[in-house]
Amino acid sequence: MSDALDTAAKPIKKPKRVLPERFKSYKGVWVFIEHEHGHVHPVSWELLGKGRELADKLGVELAGVLMGGDGDEIRAITAEVGAHGTDLCYLAQHPVLHDYRNQSYTLGMTELVNTYQPEILLLGATTQGRDLAGSVATTLLTGLTADCTGLDIDPSDRSLLSSRPTFGGSLMCTIVNLATRPQMATVRPRVMPMPARDPARPARVVEHALQLDESAIVTKVLDFIPDARADKPQLPFADFIVSGGRGLGKPENFQLVAELARTLGAEVGASRPAVHAGWADAERQVGQSGKTVRPKLYIAAGISGAVQHRVGMEGADAIAGINLDPGAPLFDFANYALIGNVTELLPALDKAFARRLATARTQRAQAHEEADRGEV
Ligand SMILES: Cc1cc2nc3c(=O)[nH]c(=O)nc-3n(C[C@H](O)[C@H](O)[C@H](O)COP(=O)(O)OP(=O)(O)OC[C@H]3O[C@@H](n4cnc5c(N)ncnc54)[C@H](O)[C@@H]3O)c2cc1C
Repeated sequence: MSDALDTAAKPIKKPKRVLPERFKSYKGVWVFIEHEHGHVHPVSWELLGKGRELADKLGVELAGVLMGGDGDEIRAITAEVGAHGTDLCYLAQHPVLHDYRNQSYTLGMTELVNTYQPEILLLGATTQGRDLAGSVATTLLTGLTADCTGLDIDPSDRSLLSSRPTFGGSLMCTIVNLATRPQMATVRPRVMPMPARDPARPARVVEHALQLDESAIVTKVLDFIPDARADKPQLPFADFIVSGGRGLGKPENFQLVAELARTLGAEVGASRPAVHAGWADAERQVGQSGKTVRPKLYIAAGISGAVQHRVGMEGADAIAGINLDPGAPLFDFANYALIGNVTELLPALDKAFARRLATARTQRAQAHEEADRGEV
């Protein structure tokens, strides 16, 4: 028998990694609170919801980490951090932290981690969160799992189980950091549900004076120029989305998706082939390599429901699929199946919704008029 055939399955030897003694004192779950011009990115609140669950399983405290320039604007955010379920909020204010810069925020976060020693640190997989997570993990020489779709605790050794798609989305893997702390992970917006807000819930504020020096920071902020594309789609936060896929066949048919979206006041989404065909721009792609969405209603027209699309939209409250093929994978998880041709069903839906919404508007207007006349 040749060597090449001598490959009978052998048991895989799992390396036994023991957490070094110096990391055993690391306790608590942290969430980086990302903000810009006084507005907190909603992914931070979503992560606090998941962080609360992890902290409760571990029996430890949940903390928000808030860094920024001097001023009351930042301090005011601490109350919101408490309202979203934390026990405490680490507050680090310094003029050098006024605008986000990788170097100053990395120095700040690594000093906080080295001082207070959390076992888990979560960040949003946003432009800022991804930038910061990578440099903090590299500086601390710890492990980071990017773009997680699930987070849990292994009760046997209290380690963080970070799940994410792999091999082009065809497999899910769970990554465990056995040998270093903190265990770091990023999660994209809308992957985790938004937790309920309790304004009465207080959080202790721990102020930390960071040792930072502007002259040591190599990048300088000269000006802030807002994104000129102020009308860019806000897909992740839309309540209603109508998405089109390859089944639309041609660009003119993709207009049917846009028309239904306009009637419903919905955002337009697209599958990857629709984006690649140039029918929609890349900002509108839903899925593993596009946006994750969590609308109240997601209408998928001419989309098969491949796993790489599914991971981006299965968090919707209700999913309606329009497809010629009753066996399309989308119908395995959709709430409503409309079997038929998109070129007939999209205009029919558009007409039906337009009629229904017009009736509802008339009824509302009549109710207001009656109320104004004191008839109710
Ligand atoms: C690493 C990686 C990342 C990826 N990331 C993404 C991603 O972010 N988002 C994404 O969408 N995909 C992504 N993909 C691609 C994904 O695997 C699928 O190929 C893609 O989602 C399929 O798009 P679709 O449903 O529009 O097309 P198809 O799979 O071709 O489905 C078209 C559907 O339309 C139906 N249909 C055809 N004609 C009509 C008609 N006239 N009326 C009604 N129905 C009709 C067909 O029955 C079919 O079900 C990724 C792939 C890889 C490998």
